[in-house]
Amino acid sequence: MKIGAFVDAHCHVDLFERPDQIIAEAETKRLYTIAVTNVPSVFRHTAMLVSHCRYVRPAIGLHPELVHSHGNQIEMLQPLLKETRYVGEIGLDYTTADKYLRNIQRNIFTRILGWCAEYKDKVLTLHSRRAVADTIAAVGKDYPGRPILHWFTGTVRELEQAASNGLYFSVNFAMVQSKKGQLLISRMPVERVLTETDGPFVKFHSHPAKPSDINHVLEGLANLWHISFEETREKVLANFRSLLGVVSDRESSSHNKGKEIV
Ligand SMILES: [Zn+2]
Repeated sequence: MKIGAFVDAHCHVDLFERPDQIIAEAETKRLYTIAVTNVPSVFRHTAMLVSHCRYVRPAIGLHPELVHSHGNQIEMLQPLLKETRYVGEIGLDYTTADKYLRNIQRNIFTRILGWCAEYKDKVLTLHSRRAVADTIAAVGKDYPGRPILHWFTGTVRELEQAASNGLYFSVNFAMVQSKKGQLLISRMPVERVLTETDGPFVKFHSHPAKPSDINHVLEGLANLWHISFEETREKVLANFRSLLGVVSDRESSSHNKGKEIV
């Protein structure tokens, strides 16, 4: 299994108008893409779309904003965990003020985290909008897996907590463009930073960001880090290799390239 040349750690491939084109482009450009899904009932379809791929991996997920309508699919999720190493989109979203819904979200998220912990090596891509503190607390310290906070929008203090707990961050075009995003990125440990498009939700100028727009995220990161595009690309790849390769000791992940378990 090849890691490729670029990393898109969070992309909704199945929600593009032409997923086949997005997938073909990712393959041609050797763009390692985690194809997240929002409900368990679409996982098999996405897995089939990418079954021939060297670089695109399907993830099984249950988006927190969909638990009110699709929460009953939670039982469908557990057996599907056997079919992929990747899990997402999962997490918490407190844009709803409804305490009952927030409770259901926490319940579902905790159950998924518990199931994934048994595998010890799952790569999880986590949503945490307005719920960063609870998301970090639910994952806890030294979680037996590889949690990635996607599109982190919390405070610097929360960021430091997440980093000290061993979490990774995947950053997108919206983040490298905004003042707040830039400030947060500058506080992230460089060895924990990955890139994502979150397409088609994040827009790149007028069109939905595709995995091939990852170049623009790398350009933004290169500016913030004051290094070249090529060095930035290599750093992100090395970070991704560490994330995938270290099974037992995540604290030393930045020093240990380990073996690749993809
Ligand atoms: Zn997403």
